[in-house]
Amino acid sequence: MADAASQPTGEWIDQLPACVVMLVGDTVRYANPAALRLLQAREPCDVIGRKVDAFIHPLDLHRVLARLRHAEGGGINPVTEIRAYACSGQPLMLAMSSATLQVKGQTAVLASFLDMTERAAMEQRLRQTDEDFQRMMNTMQDVFYRTDALGITRYVCPAVKHVLGYTAEEIIGLPAAAFYPDPSERDALVAAIRKQGAVHDFPGRMRRKDGVIIDISISTRALRDERGQYAGVEGIWRDISERKALERRLEHLATRDSLTGIHNRHSILGILERLLQRKAPLSVLLLDLDHFKQVNDGFGHAAGDRVLGRFAEIIESEKRSRDFFGRLGGEEFLLILDGTDEAEAQSIAERLRAAVCARPIALPGGAVVALTVSIGMAPSRADDVRTADVLVRADRALYCAKATGRNRVCA
Ligand code: GH3
Ligand code: MG
Ligand code: MG
Repeated sequence: MADAASQPTGEWIDQLPACVVMLVGDTVRYANPAALRLLQAREPCDVIGRKVDAFIHPLDLHRVLARLRHAEGGGINPVTEIRAYACSGQPLMLAMSSATLQVKGQTAVLASFLDMTERAAMEQRLRQTDEDFQRMMNTMQDVFYRTDALGITRYVCPAVKHVLGYTAEEIIGLPAAAFYPDPSERDALVAAIRKQGAVHDFPGRMRRKDGVIIDISISTRALRDERGQYAGVEGIWRDISERKALERRLEHLATRDSLTGIHNRHSILGILERLLQRKAPLSVLLLDLDHFKQVNDGFGHAAGDRVLGRFAEIIESEKRSRDFFGRLGGEEFLLILDGTDEAEAQSIAERLRAAVCARPIALPGGAVVALTVSIGMAPSRADDVRTADVLVRADRALYCAKATGRNRVCA
């Protein structure tokens, strides 16, 4: 019986690229060359004449045997995946289907199979990649996101919850622009991405669920579809509020006078230099407190400091918002009146002088200091290049104000 069933069923089956075996009971009676190759047989007898369980993974064996019995009963088995072994012991993943066949009155099972090992390995790799991606997204501190061509958020990683206060589910499906306090900032970002293909450390701001505006830095790139058309953006943004706050604090420390909080000498002279380079007309006021030494001598240095602070507050409250006010040192101050001619500067200076004079400064012990200020005023000239050019004229005018009795404005 075995002889009859083990005869090759025809030359064509030897040429078939698909793997075919014929089984009688649970013994392999025939394997075509493609099957012998896949099972890595050195001789046909490595496969033919052996029981099927030599090639099947123990966990799949009961399933295979049940299918063989089913086929013997006249059924047709649809394709299933089974784990198998080659003669070398190498594991294989096969997609197998089988049907019965009568060979010279004997029931045999004809099974064909495809090698799915590569595909299974690829799926495993894909699964691994996907798990790696999810793990990375779940542990990331920065926010990874994707939008489509219409700016609708299609993916955002869970980190968004602790940065914006919204869950990823609350954000997905909404326009990304909805989270920008000023949608034109999002338009500027998209325009830059479309133009350059990508942006790095692009500054922006976003509104958190609790309404607080945060500073962010965005690194992102354009996505293209198969035809090269713009399909949205993909990138990362980072909450840099703390860094920005620190930068602002450092800048404040570097440019502000610690006693009065107004611009320090370096900062106010830098502003004057920039404005002079612009060649637009301006006027400067040099302010020097009168007999300030007497305040220190009479009430102590701490009281003197307090008077300096109050004086700065008075000028701050009286000056126009566009004027720049700084402390040059000691009890000498500079006010830059941008875009202001001599006549207007003169009247502003007079108003400031009168305001200081009209507001005596109360000291903690109950004493009151009747403070006055002398002001030297100078308008800029077209040939002023350096700050000293205009300041020397203001200094001369201040000297004049002191010499002619103090508590006055001279030009
Ligand atoms: P004048 O009307 O001629 O300007 O008289 P003055 O006393 O204001 O001028 P002077 O330049 O002789 O004195 C300025 C004083 O300002 C001397 C100095 O001790 C004091 N001074 C400078 N910087 C500070 C400061 O930061 N705090 C205090 N309390 N005093 C200061
Ligand atoms: Mg002085
Ligand atoms: Mg003085």
